[in-house]
Amino acid sequence: MKHLNTIGRYWREKYQQKVYKVPISISGFTCPNIDGTVAKGGCTFCENESFSPNLQDNSKFKLNLFSTSNPYLEKQLQQLQMQFDATKEVLQNKFGAKKFIVYFQSFTNTYAPLETLKALYEKALSFEGVIGLSIGTRTDCITEEILDYLEELSKEKEIWVEYGIQSVYDQTLEKINRGHDFENIKQWIAKTKQRGLLVCGHMIFGLPDETQQMMLKGVEESVNLGIDSIKFHPLYVVENTLLTLDYKQGDFHPISEELYIDTLVKAIKMLPDDVSISRVTAGISDQTLLDPLWCNNKHQQIHNVKQALLKEGLIY
Ligand code: SF4
Repeated sequence: MKHLNTIGRYWREKYQQKVYKVPISISGFTCPNIDGTVAKGGCTFCENESFSPNLQDNSKFKLNLFSTSNPYLEKQLQQLQMQFDATKEVLQNKFGAKKFIVYFQSFTNTYAPLETLKALYEKALSFEGVIGLSIGTRTDCITEEILDYLEELSKEKEIWVEYGIQSVYDQTLEKINRGHDFENIKQWIAKTKQRGLLVCGHMIFGLPDETQQMMLKGVEESVNLGIDSIKFHPLYVVENTLLTLDYKQGDFHPISEELYIDTLVKAIKMLPDDVSISRVTAGISDQTLLDPLWCNNKHQQIHNVKQALLKEGLIY
């Protein structure tokens, strides 16, 4: 039996204790794929304000990306503090947690004036117990200037940049309205790695018209870019997305759990030992999930993945 190199094990070895990720969602952040800069409507699977009245509030509270002044900054800093404190308290009470990575998760967390990013990142790093940041973004939303700044931060703290790769095929990226091609992904991951920053790549299995062979090739090519960690997601259809239209017209068929797990196990077996695994599946347990319904119970999904890996002698 072999213990897989999960991100949890990686951190435990590095810091001699468990490190907890604290997800943060800052109002005002959006995405160039939603606001019309590169595309409108966002990725076809993304629930966003183009489709969801629940997210309309965010559109009233938008950053002017071409200005260095941000009238919402104080509110955003308060939001960061409140969200961090609330999650930290729960983690401390439940698990005695002491070390944290602040995870800027929602939307595109480098798509804002640099001064805003600096204020938010530095506040997050100032919280007691925080050893680093994980910043979720797109490869077309990073600049040399931001990378220079993150490189400076990484001299003292652990800085992860999480890029949505999703697919390495341009025809798939086009079908999901990603707004950039694989060349852009290759270019910016290389630049990020040149700065010595840690990179986590997100991959989706079950994208339109991708075969298992294509998905596995995608993992291989992503690993070849030098990523340090990887997240795997199945593609599922939720209400208020462009994908719903294709799904309802019978033009999109979600991946089965069997194929997902089989692909995942094969992908994990291909990973070099130094690429950690940050996530093996994703799901949503509310009424917005249309299909596949096996994505509505994350505990069951993880249990099934663990069992499949155990059969291969791998402990997740
Ligand atoms: S990049 Fe992320 S936030 Fe932007 S549209 Fe795609 S899924 Fe949504």
